[in-house]
Amino acid sequence: MAQLKKVLVVGGGTAGWLAACYLAKAVNAVDPNSVQVHLVESANIGLLGVGEATFPSIRGTLAAIGLDERRFLVGATATYKQGIHYRHWVRPPGTPGADHFFHPFSMPSQRPGGPELLPYWLLGAAPEGATFADAVSMQARLVKHGKGPKRTKDADYQGPLNHAFHFDAAYFAKVLAEHGEQVLGVKRHLATVERTELDEQGAIARVVTKELGELTADLYVDCTGLRGSLIGGVMKSPFRSRRDVLFADRAVAIQVPYKRPDTPIPPYTISTAQEAGWVWDIGLQTRRGAGYVYSSRHTDAERAEHVFRQYLGAAADGIQATHIKFETGYRPEHWRKNCVAVGLAGGFVEPLESTGIALVELGTYLLTHLLPGDTHDMERAARHYNEMMIARYDRIIDFIKMHYCLSQRRDSQFWIDNTDPISIPQTLQDKLALWKLRPPHRLDFVSDLEMFMVSSWQYVLYGMEFRTDLEPTRHLYTRTEEAKQEFANIQQAASYALNDLPDHRALVEQMCREH
Ligand code: FAD
Repeated sequence: MAQLKKVLVVGGGTAGWLAACYLAKAVNAVDPNSVQVHLVESANIGLLGVGEATFPSIRGTLAAIGLDERRFLVGATATYKQGIHYRHWVRPPGTPGADHFFHPFSMPSQRPGGPELLPYWLLGAAPEGATFADAVSMQARLVKHGKGPKRTKDADYQGPLNHAFHFDAAYFAKVLAEHGEQVLGVKRHLATVERTELDEQGAIARVVTKELGELTADLYVDCTGLRGSLIGGVMKSPFRSRRDVLFADRAVAIQVPYKRPDTPIPPYTISTAQEAGWVWDIGLQTRRGAGYVYSSRHTDAERAEHVFRQYLGAAADGIQATHIKFETGYRPEHWRKNCVAVGLAGGFVEPLESTGIALVELGTYLLTHLLPGDTHDMERAARHYNEMMIARYDRIIDFIKMHYCLSQRRDSQFWIDNTDPISIPQTLQDKLALWKLRPPHRLDFVSDLEMFMVSSWQYVLYGMEFRTDLEPTRHLYTRTEEAKQEFANIQQAASYALNDLPDHRALVEQMCREH
């Protein structure tokens, strides 16, 4: 038996530094000398630089690695994100009916012992005209008033409303690097890996860098981004494309400075549907980060940039756009021999629900948990890791596809093609068929494999005006008065929270001042 003594993370983007910090913290907590974590990053190969919106799991990750929230906010120029506001997704602008909805991060309210509110909302017991999100959670109402999710007196990464963050990806990697090196003992090497050599079993024996010569480890974590230099380039782990389901494969991005330093910051991501995709728009402390994610089968780069600039207006005049290529899909074997891919090297799902960094977090937890006791026996851990990651990817892909295939837009080929059953996975078709006669339930999901809990499916499903017909089973729902009372309680709690919670920009600025 050979004990694992050294891990080498190759790549210093969000994936590399998050993985290194989390691994170092986890192994050091048990025994400071048990496993050394090294990271090599290139000064010449840039990181992707997008990836600015996160998922609520990030709070647990940042708390776990011991990064102070104020230090993080200042260093990564971060702001708070409480969900996603979807504009023009339900139907095209200018047509009658609502064309937008909000996907909040807070779960629907449920009093202990009280009724689940969704069926009663479906049966019309909520206040007239209230959307599902408005009826069951106060978050949708509070973000409309620009409220932050917490008070400065709340503990780090805690607060009354569930939330994630927006940040500048390059600065985030820098904060993590400092924390990793100075606090967690990650050994950093600044060098470009030029080649990787295998041993006689086909495992990685060493990586060879231009500046520092050979670097060796027992386990190599490939965080080289879309290149996947180790896992794809050397270990030849194939990529399974899922572009047949999620068509978007390009993005054009622009960073837009605020005109005034006191510009209000929306406490959510704005996603605006377009003729061949959608635009993300997020507010950081001093600028917006925006990008048009589109399908190259349905438009071209020139037209995409034109549509994107129309969206941004004069604010983006004279600012150069960055064009990015990607593909939704993953390597079914993220982990092969002594090489495991984390981040874009392993796969990517188009960024509609900001799952990229969350998949990095997930991959890292799993890796930490599965770190092999015996380096000669990685196969079992690898098999389990790969099964878990495939299941996660496939479920995320179903969830994202649901946004597209439920849209009533038929105003361009992109939206028409998205409703073609051939592009909708059978697993998603089955779910949607079941939910025509009953709403999604917790037991429809295997929670350890899901990134999105049942509430997220419900928010998106009913935000997109999906119809679940409960009339045939109306007699089963006998707690209407209790449900009505609970709907009223939520509105009352929201009115209280409106006074209690600070404005989003004021919260961010106060937290940063306290650093
Ligand atoms: P990168 O950022 O590309 O970093 C790669 C690193 O590897 C760099 O440090 C580079 O120097 C190093 N490297 C490469 N080759 C070598 C070598 N030979 N030797 C040494 N070092 C090397 N995710 C989200 O969670 N939310 C979002 O809103 C979001 N939006 C996105 C939008 C788009 C258009 C795209 C394409 C992705 C988005 N993502 C998003 C995904 C997110 O950007 C990535 O998951 C995240 O940035 C992690 O990237 P990475 O670290 O794997 O790769």
